[in-house]
Amino acid sequence: MSKENDIYDVAVIGGGAAGLAASIFAVEMALKNDRPQRIALLDSAKAIGAKILVSGGGRCNVTHDVVTAGDYFGNRHIIKNVLAAFSVEQTVGWFASLGVDLKREETGKLFPVTDKARTILNALITRCLDLDVRILPDHRVTGIESSAESGFVLQHSHGTLHAKFVVMATGGRSIPKSGSDGFGFTLARHLGHSLTATAPALVPLVLADTMFHKTLSGLSHDVELTTVVEGHKIDCRTGSLLWTHFGISGPAVMDVSRFWTLAQETGQSADLYGNFLPGKTREQAKQWFIEQATDTPRRSLTKTLAQLVSERFAEALCLHIECDPQKAIAQLPRKDRDRLIEALLRFRFPVERDRGWNYAEVTAGGVPLDQINYRTMESKLVPGLYLIGEILDCDGRIGGFNFQWAWATGWLAGSAVATGVRPDSQTRR
Ligand SMILES: Cc1cc2nc3c(=O)[nH]c(=O)nc-3n(C[C@H](O)[C@H](O)[C@H](O)COP(=O)(O)OP(=O)(O)OC[C@H]3O[C@@H](n4cnc5c(N)ncnc54)[C@H](O)[C@@H]3O)c2cc1C
Repeated sequence: MSKENDIYDVAVIGGGAAGLAASIFAVEMALKNDRPQRIALLDSAKAIGAKILVSGGGRCNVTHDVVTAGDYFGNRHIIKNVLAAFSVEQTVGWFASLGVDLKREETGKLFPVTDKARTILNALITRCLDLDVRILPDHRVTGIESSAESGFVLQHSHGTLHAKFVVMATGGRSIPKSGSDGFGFTLARHLGHSLTATAPALVPLVLADTMFHKTLSGLSHDVELTTVVEGHKIDCRTGSLLWTHFGISGPAVMDVSRFWTLAQETGQSADLYGNFLPGKTREQAKQWFIEQATDTPRRSLTKTLAQLVSERFAEALCLHIECDPQKAIAQLPRKDRDRLIEALLRFRFPVERDRGWNYAEVTAGGVPLDQINYRTMESKLVPGLYLIGEILDCDGRIGGFNFQWAWATGWLAGSAVATGVRPDSQTRR
């Protein structure tokens, strides 16, 4: 293949959600301002948008009906300002303008009415093509240099590309085979940015083999999860836990996984505790056991517990703490009752490791938000460079929040590069 050596107004690196959004907004805004501009969208993957296609179980949870900074981790002051610039209503309206209607599910999550992630990806790519965005798949960017003459010079797998503005939308490290292998972090560092500790987030957790998870594989129920790091309680939330053949997963576990993984990454001790009777105190649980022993003394321990938790789980938990599950409730020695209450209300999960980048939905950590002008997403260190999406130190909980971050940051950067480009000049602002 011949070496390419092209000149563009804007080079967007990364054709994921953030990069596609920024490309579309940049051209739309430029056209509105009567300042047409040339945009190249480079991606190392042969087929772009892999992560959109696998998102939301193949349905793409595009956003959530209520989005606040509290749904994210990172600098919440900055996150709040970014989110305020592009609301959920704007996301819904924007997708409608692309021909995609969204529907709200009971949980507040918004999906395309087709229930197909492909609908979202097709709409974004079609719009890019309609707007003459030059999509360059299989173009891995290997170097970015600031150039006084043209703004930036990008080295990529097929040659060199010059651009007045660069939007970095290279994602994080999750699902490296999709193209998001963390090399964007290296590029950002090379340009002078620092990086906070990064770790897999929204990732299932692997438990020690001594645990009973295998016998419960497929079972899910509510739990209150408390994370303790270096002896301090740092998070407590209630939601659904899914037992699997390797350990635990499900929305609540995925949401808290970031605390555990980041603690490992930074050499801190972390413990995860479960309360399988969310909202119940030890005193209330004890009272309940006493009532059961009086009302139905001959009922077995498992059958008794089955009124509060699933019978399968009750049996596994009893066996785990070496309590006979068939014992009549009235025969349960007080010390066993107290051990059982402890196991039900403050169960320490023996987490061995997370499932790794191949199973993580996002990256916790990244380029610090205070190195970015949150009104435009422009780097405070490198004029003309913009950073958006998951490359930044911001990760949302499960529910469409990470895509909303991609759309919002894409909107800000796209609008900014569109108004900043001077078609009659080769110089940057
Ligand atoms: C299984 C799964 C399910 C998910 N489900 C949801 C969901 O339903 N709702 C939700 O809100 N979020 C979901 N997420 C998270 C969401 O997909 C991401 O937060 C979002 O896609 C991040 O978008 P991005 O554009 O910043 O990065 P990415 O989507 O990671 O895109 C980055 C792109 O940059 C390219 N790239 C990287 N380095 C280079 C380079 N050097 N040169 C050229 N190109 C490069 C990559 O190939 C990639 O295409 C899910 C994630 C996963 C893995």
